[in-house]
Parts: sequence; C-alpha cells; structure tokens
Amino acid sequence: MIMTKPAGRARWGDRLVGYPAELVERYRRSGEWTYRTIADRLQDSVDRFADRPAVITDVASMTYRELGARTDQIAVGLLDRGLEPGDPVLFQTTNRMETVLAWYGSLKAGLVPVATLAAHRGHEIGHISRAVGATAHLVETGLPFDLIDFARHQAHRHPTLRTILSVGLGGAQDGVIPIETLGAEVAAEVARERVAAIQAGIDPLDVSAFQLSGGTTGVPKVIPRLHVEYWDNARLYAQRLRWTEDTRVAHLIPIIHNAGISCGLHAAHSVGACLILATADVTQAFPLMVRAEATDVLIGHGHYQAVASPAFDEVRPFLRTVILSGAKVSPELFDRVDDGDKHWAGQLFGMSEGLFTVSPHKSPASARMTTVGTPIAEADEIRILEPGTETEMPDGEVGELTCRGPYTIPGYFDAPEHNRTAFTSDGFYRTGDLASIVVLDGARYVSIEGRIKDLINRGGEKINAEEVEQLLVTHPKVQNAAVVAMPDPRLGERTCAYLVTVDAAELSMSDIRDHLDALGVAKFKWPERLEFVDAFPQTNVGKIDKKRLRADVVAKLVATP
Ligand code: AMP
Repeated sequence: MIMTKPAGRARWGDRLVGYPAELVERYRRSGEWTYRTIADRLQDSVDRFADRPAVITDVASMTYRELGARTDQIAVGLLDRGLEPGDPVLFQTTNRMETVLAWYGSLKAGLVPVATLAAHRGHEIGHISRAVGATAHLVETGLPFDLIDFARHQAHRHPTLRTILSVGLGGAQDGVIPIETLGAEVAAEVARERVAAIQAGIDPLDVSAFQLSGGTTGVPKVIPRLHVEYWDNARLYAQRLRWTEDTRVAHLIPIIHNAGISCGLHAAHSVGACLILATADVTQAFPLMVRAEATDVLIGHGHYQAVASPAFDEVRPFLRTVILSGAKVSPELFDRVDDGDKHWAGQLFGMSEGLFTVSPHKSPASARMTTVGTPIAEADEIRILEPGTETEMPDGEVGELTCRGPYTIPGYFDAPEHNRTAFTSDGFYRTGDLASIVVLDGARYVSIEGRIKDLINRGGEKINAEEVEQLLVTHPKVQNAAVVAMPDPRLGERTCAYLVTVDAAELSMSDIRDHLDALGVAKFKWPERLEFVDAFPQTNVGKIDKKRLRADVVAKLVATP
C-alpha cells in the first residue's frame, strides 16, 4: 500500500497508518474531507449560529456563543496547567454538560481525547493509557465508584500520566483540576486568540481523538480518528438525515462512544442543530425530550423495549425522526416509530472504525424496515467477501462486510500485525460483520445478517469474548473458558461463560465476579450466567464450537427463563 507521510509522525511515528496518497487526493477533491481541524469547524458553527441552542441537558443549557466562549477558556486553562498539544487525555465521564465542555476544550487545546468510559477499571485503563501514552486523566466525581482515587492509583508508576482533571467536583481536592472553573479568569478575546493560534499549528491529518474497538482478539485495539475526517463523518450523517439548525436531536447512550460523538455531538454541531444530551435512564430521558421538544433521536437496541412501552407516547408529539440501530428491527417496532406520515424511521449501522450506513430519506418503508440503508459518503466503497478470502459474493448472498472510504481507518493504532489481517490487500477494512446486498426497487441496500467476530453486544457495549476468556482462565480453579452471547430482551445480549474447572469444581457467581473485580475488569464484562461442562464441544477443525454453546444456553433459557 502506498503511504502518505502520516500526520503527527513526530509524535506517533509508525504507529499511525496513513491513508494512501491517491485516496487522500480523492477525498480532498470530492469535498468529503475538509482540510480544517475540528475546533475550527466548531467555530464556524459558533459564528453562524451564535444565539441558537447548542446543548441542553437535564440541568443546564448553552447557546453556541456560550459553548464557544467557555470551551476557549477551558482550552487555555488546560494549556496553562502544562498540558501540551498532542497530549492524550483519558475520558471517564458520563452524559453531562461538562463532558461536552471538556471534549471541545481538549480539542481546542490540541489535546487528544481518548474515548474510555466511566465504567472502565484498571484492566482497561491501564492497558489503553499505556498504549496511547496518556498524560491526563479526566474523571467524574459523585459516581458510586471513586474515580479520583482510581485516577491517583493509575498515575502511580505510570510512565506518562501526570494530570488529573475532574468534572462534577463538590469541593477542591488536592492535585485535581476541576474543569468547571478552568480558565474562567481568561478574557474571551484572549482565549479565542490563543485557541486560534494552537489550531493553526495542527495538521488536519493528525489524530483528533482515539476511539476503542470492540476488538476481535485479546486486547481492545485503539482507533485513531483524524481531524480531516472525524467532523466530516458527522456532517455527512447529519446531511443524510437532512438536519438543519431547527433540528433538536436527543442522545441517550454514552456520548463518548463513537456513535455519541459522530451521531450526536459533532453531527448536531456541524449543522447548527441542538443536542439534547440525555442519559440511558428513560425515566429521565423521555421527560427531557418532551421539555426540550426533541425532533430526532437515535435509539440503540438497549432501548427498543422502552420505545415499545407506553412511556414513549409522551415523546411522540415533537418527534419526526427515529433512527434504530444495533439489532434487527421487528415490523411492530418499525410501525411504532414510523406512521408513514409525520413520523419517519430509518436504521443506522455504524462502527468506531468508520463506515456508517443509514436509510436514505427517500427509500421506501420496506427498505427502511429490513435494511440498514446505504453508506453516507459518495466515496464509501463496500464489498461483501467470502469470509477469509478476497472473493466477492454476488448480491443477495451473505458474506463479510468490508469497506474503505473517507472516514474509515486505514489501520489501527500501533497494531501492525493485527492490521495485516484486519484489512484486505487493497486496504478494505474487514468489519467482522456478516451482510448481504439487498436489491429493492432497483436500489442496493445493506442488510446485516450476523457477525463473524467473537463478541457480545450488551446493549451497545461490546465485550470481547477472547479478552474475558483470558481473564477467566487466570482463576486458579478454571481450566478453560468459553464465553458466548445469550439473548436478553432488554440489552439484546448478555454474557454467558462456559467453564471447565479443576477437579470439576462448581464455582459460584461471586467467586468469578470477585476474581474479575480483583483484576480490575469493568463490570459490564462480567459473565451473567455460568455453565459448567467437562469439555467443550469441538468443530471439525478442532476449535471450540461456540454455535453449539450458544444453542445450548438458548435451550436452557427457554427451559428456565
Ligand atoms: P462500535 O464500534 O462499538 O460502534 O460497534 C460497531 C459494531 O456494532 C459493528 O461492527 C456491528 O457489529 C455492531 N452494529 C452496529 N450497528 C449495527 C446494526 N444496525 N445492526 C447490527 N449490528 C450493528
């Protein structure tokens, strides 16, 4: 593959894979790449939509002008506290106004947000912060788990971590910098000038943020998203959905996830729309959507049931568009959110590595109900390949979805070996998802048919089976472990662990959980059901037959729900 000189080479070196030169040229010419930084693009919207609402949460709201001014100050505050452009910052915060402020404030200072989650613990944070060389750690206070104490622990003997930032701090704590007051003393014009100067020094081909991959092997891979494509990814999404400054888009799932950044935060702000930042708790989210008159919402499969419930009726009056994502959509669910008149529904298939497919506005209801639409960029290329090969499948047949395009990564960060198998010889990313091309009324749509990659999708949170298996076998009584998804009416899937134990010992759930807790593993990855077996069923090539294990747990759930 021909490489351009990767951006930020001085800092990231060969760990960052550049887009091939001819693609750089193609995306530049097509206008799908705008050669400016995210902070500069945000400023365009601040200038254009100054007095329009930019963000509304349960307890706060901000106009574009306020958002622009406050995040300029935070950026200056961060720089004055010794952080430097290029420094990665771990984010462990939930959906709240300060998360938005910290995200843009960091980008404006030239820092690189790392999309870790408040739910992550030592196992995840330790690995990721070392992988990217994080220098700052932003944590939320007031959560049941003391993240400040955790951040102090993480910084101990860490080669690069040195600054702890906080949101939601009740009172000042030693050595912790609260975002709330950061840079408040700096005059608006001074802050604006400093930020503009920092942005002028950033190469748009440099990394803007790091996202995390659900992953297909042992440890989660790091996904570098560049200035040149990340904002445009969101803009293309907003344009596909015909958003304008009158759109008010609600977001319930973690805003820090790629879907949050690309379909919520950046997408809204790329067109002057308002982001209604809610939380996953629908008893809070639905009333907020009503109060803030939400017109659009992305519903992940963890909320499919909530949409089917009577509580959803309340939010319907202002709602025009519902995007469903994460799992197959039943006709009942579709009819609940699409009445062929005022309410329009579509689907999204997306991933932190890039590719988004979304139902086109004009597509017939049948296509919007049964497929995930079409890619959002003209330059997106998709191929359905026979798994493990580079042979293309004919339309209508199921194979592995592969893609290349203006916002799909050309390589994971610092993972040369993995990149060799994760991409085809001509740079198409192997998604690990099974799909087919469905032709309806002469138009081609993508339909998702399952996945090859071994993960559990727990309400949108991806759990890497191999990672959990490796952790389970470190228990002295566990000889072998196989982790599979079991269906769950609310979350879509949950984790079931099949265990072969030493001397056929039956371990309790708390034995397993205490073990994973001691290893610092995020709770959402802990198995929620255990099954003990003498040996695992094998496929004819000698691998663990997970299909049979999945069928086994489904049968058991049917027998004793
Ligand atoms: P993430 O990187 O966390 O956004 O996860 C991306 C993965 O989520 C995809 O590779 C799919 O496995 C899954 N996914 C996303 N959207 C859908 C969808 N509409 N239907 C089924 N699976 C989906």
